[in-house]
Amino acid sequence: MELRKDPITRSWVICGDEPEPAGSPTSFCPFCPESGLPLQVVATSPTVNGSPWSARAVVHPRPLYGIDGEPGRSGNGLYDTMRPVGAHEVIVENARHDRHLWNADDREIEEYLALCGQRIQDLKGDLRFKYISVFKNYGSMSGQEFDHPTSEIVATTFVPRRVLYELRAAREHYRVKERCVFCDILHQEQEQKLRMVEVRGEYMAGCPYAPRVPYETWIAPRNHEAYFERTAMKSGAMRDFAALLRRTLFRIRTIADGFHMVLHTSPNTVHRSETLGFWKTIEDDYHWHMEILPILGTKAKSYTFKEVYYSPVSSETAAAILRERPTE
Ligand SMILES: [Zn+2]
Ligand SMILES: [Zn+2]
Ligand SMILES: [Zn+2]
Repeated sequence: MELRKDPITRSWVICGDEPEPAGSPTSFCPFCPESGLPLQVVATSPTVNGSPWSARAVVHPRPLYGIDGEPGRSGNGLYDTMRPVGAHEVIVENARHDRHLWNADDREIEEYLALCGQRIQDLKGDLRFKYISVFKNYGSMSGQEFDHPTSEIVATTFVPRRVLYELRAAREHYRVKERCVFCDILHQEQEQKLRMVEVRGEYMAGCPYAPRVPYETWIAPRNHEAYFERTAMKSGAMRDFAALLRRTLFRIRTIADGFHMVLHTSPNTVHRSETLGFWKTIEDDYHWHMEILPILGTKAKSYTFKEVYYSPVSSETAAAILRERPTE
């Protein structure tokens, strides 16, 4: 496997000929506490409900990125390549095989979120890593890897394309208006209430004005905060977010078979001074949020051609429908 940079769009891809998986797939779950498999546990959250633990981070059993060495960025004519140096972990969301983010209790979800925050903070201490991604794929059409409730965390030596677009746009909005574009959106949405799904304490869930897929939903803090991990590690600050995440996923699950969920937060800004002021205004211009992209089996065809995203359900209709859906 190697990382290659598209010379036109400047985005990095991971590319290589993967060997066929060896042996037959095991029938038991490696992440259940009773499996007894030798997992490389990175961090564990204390139990809140009598289970052996409430969430834990383990090294991915088949990591795409390796932790050792330097990226060794090199050029070949006009092409750039580097070694896939990074961290690839699985966040086991719950000790129980059947406790998902939409049917766990809020304290368990809080522990999961706090653990994500801790892992981001910890991995940012490694100056080779520019960005830490947290994401979850759920459902047969999502690329889900394990049956057990899990998310993944990946630390990379570059900022992924979609986040980079957001960072550049947010910085530009701030340069012109001296305001955070996400805060501006949140204010307008809370006033218009057309695309709002639910407000809970300091957080709001809503459908974005220009969705990529039907029922796309974002959850963001209503007050400005650039770093997810800073909120996540403040005691009690995630209580309402945990509940809103659970309720939103429950609503979406009544409509969609699967979903992608991805956290967008500030990159590793420890390099701030060295990068010609690149992250100079990030504290004020970027705003963390969770994006949920439902996968609708029946409507998948209509938007698989992704040169222009096409959603056959408007955000206003999607939000109105989601608001009426059960939340538990
Ligand atoms: Zn399991
Ligand atoms: Zn903001
Ligand atoms: Zn985003």
